[in-house]
Amino acid sequence: MSADKKLFLITGVSSGFGRAFAEAALARGHRVVGTVRNDEAAIRFEDLAPGRAIAVHLDVADVEAIEPAVAEIEKSIGPVDVLINNAGYGHEGTMEESPIEEMRRQFGVNVFGAVGMMKALLPFMRRRRAGHIINITSMGGFITMPGIAYYCGSKFALEGMSEVLAKEVRDFGIWVTAVAPGSFRTDWAGRSMVRSARGIADYDALFDPIRRAREEKNGKQAGDPRKAAAAVMALVEAEKPPVHLLLGADALSLVRDKLESLRAEIDAWEHLTLSTGFAEA
Ligand code: NAP
Repeated sequence: MSADKKLFLITGVSSGFGRAFAEAALARGHRVVGTVRNDEAAIRFEDLAPGRAIAVHLDVADVEAIEPAVAEIEKSIGPVDVLINNAGYGHEGTMEESPIEEMRRQFGVNVFGAVGMMKALLPFMRRRRAGHIINITSMGGFITMPGIAYYCGSKFALEGMSEVLAKEVRDFGIWVTAVAPGSFRTDWAGRSMVRSARGIADYDALFDPIRRAREEKNGKQAGDPRKAAAAVMALVEAEKPPVHLLLGADALSLVRDKLESLRAEIDAWEHLTLSTGFAEA
């Protein structure tokens, strides 16, 4: 295989971003190992480019299964150049109304699953002194809104851990990029979303319009996953890829607003912040 043709490992290629990333990589002549959770998705994926699109069954919530799956890919398919941790879903529900088990499940997929994939692949990438890990986070890893605490928490966690890992492995020739999309037209707010049942009337006024607006917006989001895929391909080809990348006009303006208001709040309370040292320091 020529040096510019890479092997991608992408989690969750059955729909949405994962499918678009895989199609874009395949269109550029790369090979893609894509994880799926059922036979039908495996067949549909491999049909995209027989021989170059290789489906592997993996539920990333099953962390014990990740390491052997990655070792097998490295052994029988080849060295992975690019890992895209894409598999994930959104949980919706106010914190008080959402069972803690839903938080465990949310973090199990969006955080433990992604970290499990990185930990399984790092020994191989480190030995080769090469590799690019791309974690699909969200603008919800920077900004928040009522009703998605577990989701935002999981994406803040993945943003933070991506940034730490980037510092730990830079000297080994491994790049880490956290990609934070705004709203894109995928199955995220449709079939994939887990919605906790409502039960506390006090939250009706705040939360009902948010849930309704998300349901109404589903299928009409401004972001085009194929354009996101082109941007991710540009990242992979970049000489020095960034640690953080926002995707979409909504992500850009909302995150900028958040950073401005955070700075203003830090400044407003600076006197109290600076009041905590020993007198002699
Ligand atoms: P999607 O169309 O629902 O795709 C989600 C993919 O993840 C599917 O292939 C799904 O597989 C897979 N998946 C879910 N849970 C999994 C698990 N436990 N193990 C393995 N695979 C699993 O939604 P999407 O928008 O493309 O989501 C991809 C990523 O983008 C997610 O991390 C999401 O949080 C993030 N994101 C999306 C948006 C947006 O607006 N769409 C914005 C910011 C971030 P199945 O078909 O088997 O369910």
